[in-house]
Amino acid sequence: MKQIQGVKGVKDILPDEAMAWQHIQQKARNIFHTFGYSEIIIPVIEAAELFLRSIGETTDIVEKEMYTFEDRDRKKIALRPEGTASVVRSYIEHSLNQASPFSKLYYIGPMFRRERPQAGRYRQFYQIGAEVFGFEHPMIDAEMLSMLNLLFQSLDISGLELQINSIGCPNCRPQFREALRDFFAGRLSELCENCQRRFELNPLRILDCKSSHCHALSGEAPKTLDYLCADCLTHFNKVQDSLKSAGVPYVINQRLVRGLDYYTHTAFEFVSGSLGAQNTVAAGGRYNTLVEELGGPSTPAIGFSIGMERLVSLFDSSPVEKQSPFLFIVALGEKAQEQGFSLINKLHKEGISAIMDYSNGSLKSQMRKADKFNAAHVLILGEDELAKGVVTLRDMKNKTQVEVPLLEIVGKFGS
Ligand code: ATP
Ligand code: MG
Repeated sequence: MKQIQGVKGVKDILPDEAMAWQHIQQKARNIFHTFGYSEIIIPVIEAAELFLRSIGETTDIVEKEMYTFEDRDRKKIALRPEGTASVVRSYIEHSLNQASPFSKLYYIGPMFRRERPQAGRYRQFYQIGAEVFGFEHPMIDAEMLSMLNLLFQSLDISGLELQINSIGCPNCRPQFREALRDFFAGRLSELCENCQRRFELNPLRILDCKSSHCHALSGEAPKTLDYLCADCLTHFNKVQDSLKSAGVPYVINQRLVRGLDYYTHTAFEFVSGSLGAQNTVAAGGRYNTLVEELGGPSTPAIGFSIGMERLVSLFDSSPVEKQSPFLFIVALGEKAQEQGFSLINKLHKEGISAIMDYSNGSLKSQMRKADKFNAAHVLILGEDELAKGVVTLRDMKNKTQVEVPLLEIVGKFGS
């Protein structure tokens, strides 16, 4: 029969790797709770319009990468390409601002973008993200970055550089846009095809272009920080002072503009020196106008998201303990199998991890399986044991064994 393969650009997370994922997610949850965040679980599908309005119609995500389909009632649905828009939609729809003026929310889940699959770039990928609503103070920007820094430290991820920038606000960004347009107007033919289009629609995004020529050119382009209004400059300086006081190292990267339209003020990325071209592990920024643009009350906000696959690839999972079954029951013969089955049922009810292979295999072959499964102890039930009402308990590490009355086994391993 012809084999069916997984969809291109979508990967399976096999059990060994899933352990590392669980470990990372648990660390993230713990740290987020320390900082007062609660989990929000948002849907994977949304009205496509949500992303057109938030991310921006001229971004790569919306122009080229979004998976959309028409539902049976003709409504246009999208598989979410990111989490922020959904969280904002939910925040507004459920008037979370009325329950509390401040909300700190985090989410974990898959996102979908039809990009060219390559290392660090998948069509279904996972993000761990968080959003804060209702805080305008630059210290919350620094607190969020400090939280991310702490998470990466707790996972022993080294070689990450925090890059920050300010991309201004609706007050000062138009002037910067104009300055960029003036600069690139005379150099249009030198830009890549994509950037020629960006020049018309969204010239800031030229600074974000990965093509080497555009990259070199934008090094000479006007700098965002020279165009900030007084409020934006004060905010950015305070973010930096607060990062220093929290002991979070950073560098300023004036090309950092982010690929989504909704950002204002602070923009940031954690970049790895060892990931090749797809080297941004986490990214985010402030988006003080988005809640209002999506029909909610004017609410300052800031958020980030971490690319799970890229984070996992930097994580050394060797210290993470594998989940092995604790007991392996070797039953020899049909009668022993009946006893073994009744014993394993009792063990499971007590929450004691145990497996049995239900084979009629020899002692040797069942022992080999116990070894493969990495079981800590083996319980052997053979004819002798049955006759005496005992089991042979073998410690797989010390290679010692003792006889234990069958009736005492559950008590011995139960809490
Ligand atoms: P990039 O420049 O790497 O494409 P982006 O600006 O598209 O990033 P964001 O939308 O900010 O990325 O997403 C946040 C993070 O999610 C990225 O920094 C990255 O770690 C991860 N990410 C984004 N797209 C993908 C993808 N296709 N596959 C795996 N991870 C991704
Ligand atoms: Mg991208």
